[in-house]
Amino acid sequence: MTELSALSPVPSAARDAVLKFYFGPMDCGKSTLALQMNYNHGRQGRRGLVLTKHDRSGGAKVTSRIGLGLDAIEVDDALDLVTLVGAHDRIDYLICDEACFYTVEQIEQLADLVDEHGVDVYAFGLASDFRSQMFPAAQRLFELADEVCRLQVEVLCWCGRPGLLNARVVGGAMARSGEQVVIGDTDASPVRYQVLCRRHHRSGQLAMPVPSLTAS
Ligand SMILES: [Zn+2]
Repeated sequence: MTELSALSPVPSAARDAVLKFYFGPMDCGKSTLALQMNYNHGRQGRRGLVLTKHDRSGGAKVTSRIGLGLDAIEVDDALDLVTLVGAHDRIDYLICDEACFYTVEQIEQLADLVDEHGVDVYAFGLASDFRSQMFPAAQRLFELADEVCRLQVEVLCWCGRPGLLNARVVGGAMARSGEQVVIGDTDASPVRYQVLCRRHHRSGQLAMPVPSLTAS
């Protein structure tokens, strides 16, 4: 009998593996769901890897705003994900947090893992950048995924409408141009990000207007 490895061919009777993409703005609970999903699959005796890139902690971890955290593999641009999985005994699934920051080639590798090696892939990330334009990796996930789910966990714009888009704020004003990926919301960075509704992302209004004292 031959040893099964993570890259053994899928038995023909096996169900198809799936590529799923969960997307939403910051603070919508993506990393929390990623951690929950890893926990659920692990409890069923399945073996997985947790991957991330540019996590808010600044390290190779998946951390959620509500305080959960887990060590993870940091995905740099040169990492081949098929090779990574092949280096392990048996991998049933991948949790890919911050997948919007992967390369397009790495998204193709995820599709390979699903189709050729029967690995379930659960990808989480932003869809669009601070200009409301799609990240290349997110676009590829939209094109290739079996299932795409928008997460909307009560993240609201200051006006109370659903928060859909991330604004980059530099020096108190919304930025409209610049590098697609700039890490913000850290002590060292002058950049922060704020979730807005589409209306206020388009107008650039970051807060409730303060009533003028001189108005009659
Ligand atoms: Zn709004």
